[in-house]
Parts: sequence; C-alpha cells; structure tokens
Amino acid sequence: MQEIKKAIEAGQNIVITTHKSPDGDAIGSSLAFYHYLSSLGKNVSVVVPDAFPDFLNWMSGVDRILYYDTQTGSVEKLVSEADIVFSLDYNALGRIGALGELIGTSNAVKVVVDHHQDPQDFADHYFVDTDNSSTAQLVYELIESFGDASKINKVIGECIYCGIMTDTGSFRYPSTTAKTHQIIANIIAVGVNGAMIHENVYDTNSEDRLRLLGFALTEKLRVVSAANAAYISLSAEELKKYNFKKGDTEGLVNYALSISGIKMAVLMTEKEGGVNFSFRSKGDFFVNKIANQYFNGGGHVYAAGGRLETSLDNAIEKVEKVIEEFQQELNK
Ligand code: 5GP
Ligand code: MN
Repeated sequence: MQEIKKAIEAGQNIVITTHKSPDGDAIGSSLAFYHYLSSLGKNVSVVVPDAFPDFLNWMSGVDRILYYDTQTGSVEKLVSEADIVFSLDYNALGRIGALGELIGTSNAVKVVVDHHQDPQDFADHYFVDTDNSSTAQLVYELIESFGDASKINKVIGECIYCGIMTDTGSFRYPSTTAKTHQIIANIIAVGVNGAMIHENVYDTNSEDRLRLLGFALTEKLRVVSAANAAYISLSAEELKKYNFKKGDTEGLVNYALSISGIKMAVLMTEKEGGVNFSFRSKGDFFVNKIANQYFNGGGHVYAAGGRLETSLDNAIEKVEKVIEEFQQELNK
C-alpha cells in the first residue's frame, strides 16, 4: 500500500482501466478511485474496453469515461502520457481485450487492485485480496491505508457502495464481512442514499428485460437434477427478439443456482458469432477451474465466466458433457 502511495505521489498523469463488459464493481471502483485521485490534484482518466449497462449511468463521472473500442486514438495518447496505469477489478491483460497490448507495452508504473484468483505477472505493484468482497471495497481500504478516509465523500461513497452492492449480491454472498458492513455504514454516514442506488441498479427494468427473464426461465432453463446442475441458453435470435441491451441478462444465472439442490448453474448467450458463459456455484464446485479448463475464462471460485468462438449448439453440448463429468464424480 505504501509503495502504491509513493507511486501516486510521484506521478501526475494517471489512467485507470477496468475489464471488458464492465459491471457495477468495475465502474464503481474505477470512478471512486478517479474522484479520490482527482481530489489530490492528479490528472486522471478512466478507460474501459467497451460499453457497460445503462443501469450504471447514474454514477457521477460516467460521462468522462473513455471507451477504447470507439475512442482508440484518445486512449492511446492518454496511455502514452501516463505515469501510472491502474488495473482495477481484473488481473490478466486478456481481460481487457485489445487494450491489453497497449497497457502491457506501456512504460507507466502499473498497479493492480483486484480480488480475482491467480494474478498474471504484468504489473509493478499488486494490492490483491481474493477473499475481499469487491474491488470497490479494496479501493476504500487502500484510501483508508493512505490516511485519507476523511476524503471519502458522498460522490466517492456512492461509487463504492455500488461496487460492493453488486459484487456481494446486495450484501448476501459469503464474501460479505463485518468490515464490508462497517465500510457501508461509514459511507451512509457521509450522506450516501443506499435506497436510491438499489432502485437505480435493481429496480429499473425495461419491459423487454423482464419478458426476456420470463422467457428464459419458462422456456430455456434445463435442470439436470441428478448432477445438481442447471443451465440456460439464449440464442442471438432470442436475444434480438427481446431487444437485448447490455446488462439485460445480468443476474439471470443466479435464478438457476437458486433452485433447491442445484450446486452449479451456467448461462450461455450467443453474441458476436461466439458464446459467452457465466458460471455460478455453491459448496464443493469451483467454477473458476471449469471456466479456465474448458471455456477459455476464469474468475472467482463461485462466480466465473468465459467465451468460446463456437456455435450455441456446440456450447450446449460442451456444458452437458462437463455436467455429465460432474455427475460421474458425484457418484464415485
Ligand atoms: P459474470 O458471469 O458476471 O460475467 O462474471 C463472473 C465473474 O467471472 C466476474 O468476476 C468476472 O470478472 C469473471 N469473468 C467473466 N468472464 C471472464 C473471462 O472470460 N475470463 C476471466 N478470467 N474471468 C472472467
Ligand atoms: Mn469485482
């Protein structure tokens, strides 16, 4: 933490990056850190590989975020001038797509702040805690370790609240600790309105999104009770029918996992000529391993993702095979 503090003191131009298809923790932690570093008088930018869901648009600073896929030249210039590049909520350059090459070859001091397993060796400093609820909580703890907890105001607090809330499933996953709640209490004490954040993120659905959820659960959910597994697959055509927008399937895989007795759930969505996978698990099933071994991905032990450049039919076949292997393991 002290090394990171020194790097910040020595630098002026700071670029904060986060992973592809940014979620609430990616955007929340990045903007929280952006506001904090800006308050120190630093010249700070937030860069994302691509777009994020509309339900994060209420956060202060979203209008200043740069997108590498559509603003490539501006991002290249910023990174070339950066003294420090922060990697928030990811730990391998593969997680930021084409932006990875730019960051990997940059001469800036590189700092990873993250809570995923198995960090790749590409940065100068690492503030990593795989047991931590979220990168947003790590950002709070980092600022606190600098002796700057008093600088965490309502604007920074809202971003941190959003990151912790989304990565803990509203403070209910096992990664939620007393410290998590203490941080939330401190944030509320500086004026953050938790109810507003919950409403913006979770209770502001489009009709299409809700009908897609209904369709997925009624028509597309397959339960393999013998293997304690369930999966949902959605084709590009089906997504189009419900006017799919980024974020519309977020949380869907958790419904499959919530079925009594189910220990592993998979969501497959056909996108851009390939298939994206979301894995969730409980108990003895560690999905980051499966995601890494078969689906070109990774993540946390109970929440992971991946992608294969294949057809949806092939993807389903592969998931069924993996489920079958589990069933055999179970019966051993
Ligand atoms: P989600 O299912 O919500 O998209 O992702 C669950 C978790 O897995 C997140 O923590 C996310 O960062 C991680 N994850 C998702 N996709 C990938 C991937 O392709 N590679 C790796 N290493 N992690 C991923
Ligand atoms: Mn996270």
